[in-house]
Amino acid sequence: MNSAATDHKENHFLVSFDPATGNELGRIGIDSAAEVVEMVDRSRQCFQQWRRTSFAERKRLMMKAREVILEEMDEIAGLISAESGKPVAEALALEIAPALDLMQWAARETEKMLKPRKIGIGLFSLMGRSSKIIYQPLGVIGIIPAWNYPFSIPIGEAAMALMAGNTVVIKPSELTPLVGLKIGEIFKKAGFPKNAVQIVSGAGETGAALVDARPDKIVFTGSVATGKKIAEAAAKDLIPFVLELGGKDPMIVLEDADLDAAANVAVWGAFSNAGQNCASVERLFVHERIAEELTRRIIEKTKRLKLGRGTDPDVSIGPMSSERQVRIVEKHVNDFREAGAVIETGGERDPEKGELFYKPTVITGARNEIRPMQEETFGPTLPICTFTTDEEAVALANDTEFGLTASVWTRDISRGEKLAEKIEAGTVCINEHLYTHGIGQTPWGGFKNSGRGRTHGQEGLMELVQPQHIHTNRITLLPDAWWMPYSATAIQTFRQFATKFASGSLFKTAKMLPQLLKRIREIRRG
Ligand code: NAD
Repeated sequence: MNSAATDHKENHFLVSFDPATGNELGRIGIDSAAEVVEMVDRSRQCFQQWRRTSFAERKRLMMKAREVILEEMDEIAGLISAESGKPVAEALALEIAPALDLMQWAARETEKMLKPRKIGIGLFSLMGRSSKIIYQPLGVIGIIPAWNYPFSIPIGEAAMALMAGNTVVIKPSELTPLVGLKIGEIFKKAGFPKNAVQIVSGAGETGAALVDARPDKIVFTGSVATGKKIAEAAAKDLIPFVLELGGKDPMIVLEDADLDAAANVAVWGAFSNAGQNCASVERLFVHERIAEELTRRIIEKTKRLKLGRGTDPDVSIGPMSSERQVRIVEKHVNDFREAGAVIETGGERDPEKGELFYKPTVITGARNEIRPMQEETFGPTLPICTFTTDEEAVALANDTEFGLTASVWTRDISRGEKLAEKIEAGTVCINEHLYTHGIGQTPWGGFKNSGRGRTHGQEGLMELVQPQHIHTNRITLLPDAWWMPYSATAIQTFRQFATKFASGSLFKTAKMLPQLLKRIREIRRG
């Protein structure tokens, strides 16, 4: 068996493997629970200093971190490809470029997005009061990512957290520990304070130790099962969390869609990263009138894809990341076969390339009742199912516990947008799929079991701060009518507060002035 399939922990080391060859890439010591606690403590001390840095200084350092990435781009792309198996092309297009874009946006725009905000307080402002919201950083953000985007996900989350004034402790996936260490090195080389970004190495127990070490928020990316464990552990100390979990994303192709674009995106959306995307096209629903033609184009394009090592520039599909993941794909494909669906192409490993290579697989005759149409596959499979009406397409798309992203394909944009609103998913694209994680300005996160909270965008930034309300009274000469002592006059005044002032009408409120003056005189008398 390929050594990448064996346990990644040997005694107190994590062993990093190249999934294409099974060759060892490196060994990293596992941090103990006590060390994790120390790291969180150091992070919290550093936070006290980091939170006081100006946005200009944070921006300078973030732009420096971008320069470090640009200088070492090929080396980083090679490392991502070696450790995760994805083609170098994808490491560049789907990890490094989006991370750089997000970092420049976060560096330039965070100050603006977190600008103190004056809020309207209605008639209270007539009494010389005003309110504003300022955004305070939370403290230590514990980031626990998955292995499928080992660079762009954690570095993007760290960049936003740091710009907002937090410090971060990242526990990379045990399948991609070297990419995790590289992220720490990038921030160090850029000149960030020593403990502003720390990397904890280890597997699930170390992730659990990070939650137990009580960071001020957890930003987790991974499976629903682990997400539930994290939510349970975090609840003990009321630690807030963002959970970015699995998906079973539908692509709905209406009868008036641009078929060539739909076929290209179906292939890319289902097979990029060997199908190991949370927002992969996991289910394709196509109108019956165009099903045959779309399927023909998809199969043709799929058959042309080259499998191989990610370092070969012509390779579109690399190995899957682990034996465990390949076995899930095998099981799902078998389930489809047994249920009478047709495997049009693929449907098996490619042992000539290596044990973790699985051929891109197109399946027709898929139906929602077949189990793998309900469970996340996270592999290179594209099951196709037909529908006849828009309502049926929406019902099929929503028939899942997941709701991460979805797409609708049509030349009639307003019809597409109307359908999009009926789909239960955090992001719905019209004539696109999958790629909006690469637009840092847009929020990312799921409905239903696909997650809680958001990363990216203004919404994601708000997860990394706490709003603080500053309320000011500029006129202290007059007492507030609600002060003590209470009396019959007080009760009469409060009745008028309820019936006049609380109506929001200036006209009605003006009528309570005599009662108000009576009450003020009463309070002044003591
Ligand atoms: P996983 O849940 O097995 O592991 C994710 C991370 O959690 C790893 O770093 C792991 O070491 C850590 N972990 C495991 N047990 C833990 C525990 N008890 N406490 C704390 N940390 C623990 O997931 P995976 O196999 O690495 O990733 C695949 C999953 O991630 C898929 O379901 C995929 O859809 C999802 N994913 C979601 C998004 C998104 O944005 N929604 C993005 C990428 C991946």
